[in-house]
Amino acid sequence: MWDYVKELKEKGLIRHWGFSFHADPELLEELLIAHPDAEFVQLQINYADWENPGVASRRNYEICQAHGKPVVIMEPVKGGVLADPIPEVKEVFAQSGKGWSCASWALRYAAGIGNLLAVLSGMSDLSQMDDNLRTMQGFAPLNAEEQAVIQKAQEALNNDKSIPCTACHYCTEGCPMGIPIPEIFNVVNRKRGSAAFRTVREYNIVTQGKGRASDCVACGQCESVCPQHLPIIRLLQDCRTLEQ
Ligand code: SF4
Ligand code: SF4
Repeated sequence: MWDYVKELKEKGLIRHWGFSFHADPELLEELLIAHPDAEFVQLQINYADWENPGVASRRNYEICQAHGKPVVIMEPVKGGVLADPIPEVKEVFAQSGKGWSCASWALRYAAGIGNLLAVLSGMSDLSQMDDNLRTMQGFAPLNAEEQAVIQKAQEALNNDKSIPCTACHYCTEGCPMGIPIPEIFNVVNRKRGSAAFRTVREYNIVTQGKGRASDCVACGQCESVCPQHLPIIRLLQDCRTLEQ
């Protein structure tokens, strides 16, 4: 793979090359030492994952800085999770009086980090694109007061017990038991927000005709591809209580 991209560059077919990375800092260090001609690294960076040991945004970013590599940010809004965060985080942003959307807060945090090539944000409709464009027009990094708001949001997230699954579905295609992993986690998380939520009924709906949590054979395929490094096997074990 590494030789292939270098060959393409030598032929003039590509101008710049770098790589996307979803693993631990030790491996990133190893790769940048072995491939010092990589021109950039794409990292998952957002305010929820900056100190998340499973994602290690900060440590991976610092390694890129030490190797002089600019960064492309992916998942600044954590797969959409930070556009519609838990009520406690929404309240923190509402109280700031800024009037920015939750997604805008997340983008502003990511884009202000420095030494970046780009901040990539997936958008589903025109209003999201308008919001992103408004955020980045005349962009200025968050000031100290605004950073303090982000810190409060981070604290609220740290106290949250939700499963931080982004529903990317990387884990589901290779599951030999056909378990709808993100949909099951979504049921568990929605239960948290509403006393009236009928968890067992919802669980039965999302698993109908598919694998259930108790079908997991602990093969580990899902955990090996989960960008959020979730302990999926253990989490599914906890979900077995929904099977009635
Ligand atoms: S560990 Fe369980 S959930 Fe994960 S891929 Fe294997 S069977 Fe599916
Ligand atoms: S790979 Fe991880 S984050 Fe993505 S859907 Fe599966 S459990 Fe969720």
